[in-house]
Amino acid sequence: MTRPETARPALLWLRRDLRLHDNAALAAAVASGRPVLPVYVLDDDTPGAWRMGAASRWWLHHSLTALQAELQARGAPLVLRRGPVASVLPALVAETGAAEIHAGKPGEPWARTALAGLSAGVPVHLHRTQTLHSLDGVRTQTGTPYGVFTPYSRACRVLGPVPPPLAAPAHITAAPAPASDTLEDWGLLPSRPDWAGGLRASWQPGEPHARRQLAEFVAGGVQTYDALRDRPGMESTSRLSPALHFGEISARAAWQAAAHTVGAGGNGVEKWHNELLWREFSAHLLFHAPGLPERPLKPAFAAMPWRDDPAQLRAWQRGETGVPIVDAGMRQLWQTGWMHNRVRMIVASFLVKHLLLPWQAGAAWFWDTLVDADLASNSASWQWVAGCGADAAPYFRIFNPVLQGAKFDPEGTYVRRYVPELARLPAQVIHAPWDAPALVLRASGVSLGGNYPAPIVDLAAGRQRALDALASISKGQP
Ligand SMILES: Cc1cc2nc3c(=O)[nH]c(=O)nc-3n(C[C@H](O)[C@H](O)[C@H](O)COP(=O)(O)OP(=O)(O)OC[C@H]3O[C@@H](n4cnc5c(N)ncnc54)[C@H](O)[C@@H]3O)c2cc1C
Repeated sequence: MTRPETARPALLWLRRDLRLHDNAALAAAVASGRPVLPVYVLDDDTPGAWRMGAASRWWLHHSLTALQAELQARGAPLVLRRGPVASVLPALVAETGAAEIHAGKPGEPWARTALAGLSAGVPVHLHRTQTLHSLDGVRTQTGTPYGVFTPYSRACRVLGPVPPPLAAPAHITAAPAPASDTLEDWGLLPSRPDWAGGLRASWQPGEPHARRQLAEFVAGGVQTYDALRDRPGMESTSRLSPALHFGEISARAAWQAAAHTVGAGGNGVEKWHNELLWREFSAHLLFHAPGLPERPLKPAFAAMPWRDDPAQLRAWQRGETGVPIVDAGMRQLWQTGWMHNRVRMIVASFLVKHLLLPWQAGAAWFWDTLVDADLASNSASWQWVAGCGADAAPYFRIFNPVLQGAKFDPEGTYVRRYVPELARLPAQVIHAPWDAPALVLRASGVSLGGNYPAPIVDLAAGRQRALDALASISKGQP
């Protein structure tokens, strides 16, 4: 007996769009009139694939759990399969008789290559689900991609109003589900040691929570975002980066929610929109420069005399450099899987400049430990800080971590929270305990080189070494 053509399912491949609201791929699959077969593929095996880091895998486990519940409530189970997408998807088409595939357009080079090589024998419809604008569609007047943020963001803003988000389907007609892995099969969570306690205490992955978090942020934080966003000791930013990375919330929903908030004309909304455009810009850069995660965009930086110092890299990773704001940031990252943006810039600058260690080593650590690890934003930001990226901060502008700490964490709130050894130090010396009188250190219970390290690098000497390294390659620069 042959099935009627319309009974052949529409396969919905979900990847970084783990949501029901404003999901153009889901909407199109439902609109096809066919039963829908949602699938998530854990792809660690495609050559060149950026295997998700440990913190991302923790997030993914919980995000997929939430998605399973949301889909089930509307009548459609989520199928889980593991392997290279280029073989898993065709196998699923053959197994289920699917007539078409709907998916979000990937931005990562390896995922685009895998998709291009997909030969499933059915039409593959790609929809924009991850960004506000087409990664290829925003171009300069001469038709080239943008390399500088400000004109890029201007070009985005004149593209016209961001369209309203799509509603979630009330009901999904499900296709008969083929066999599925279970999340437990995938072992995404740590077993022994269980290092995820801080993540559990800090986050609730999944679309329902992301929507609540966005609503709370636009009702409160966005108005003061411009004034307070650089203060790591305060909860002044949205913390939506993991939800945006995994697509639990769409960039369009985030943009629109802020645009329609009370007092939307204020600088807070404008600034926050700008950050969403930095996310777009990073994706645009990766789209046009697939080597972004590995190679400096400014070729002269390939000759940079980076050092190889495993002990110092380890001290940086563990938050044991003896520089309080750096250690606080690295410990926030280790404990919670996230770090405040200002502090990301400080710790990154410290690594590539004061320690003269390669930005790729820092990016790799972030990739493994961030819950929002994003190939585009992480690579572009590291290159930006290292001075070798598009529109980068010049390499010779070297953040002084003591001055940065005093300016953005003036009471030392952030350092006290993450470096408890220093909690009793007065604010005046908390960012440079080596300058504190011995009496003050003793009264605060701080022993430099004892319960808290002495700085692993002399800041002035490290700065000079970085400038000398730059001078050594700058002869080759235009
Ligand atoms: C060295 C370094 C590495 C970084 N790695 C990542 C990463 O892997 N993933 C990631 O999402 N962000 C990364 N960022 C950018 C930024 O630090 C985070 O997006 C931000 O801290 C997330 O916090 P939030 O959600 O509260 O942001 P908000 O301030 O509330 O901003 C809203 C959203 O805009 C986007 N955004 C904000 N700032 C940036 C930026 N500078 N570049 C790109 N997008 C931005 C994020 O999606 C963010 O959720 C990195 C920055 C640096 C300096």
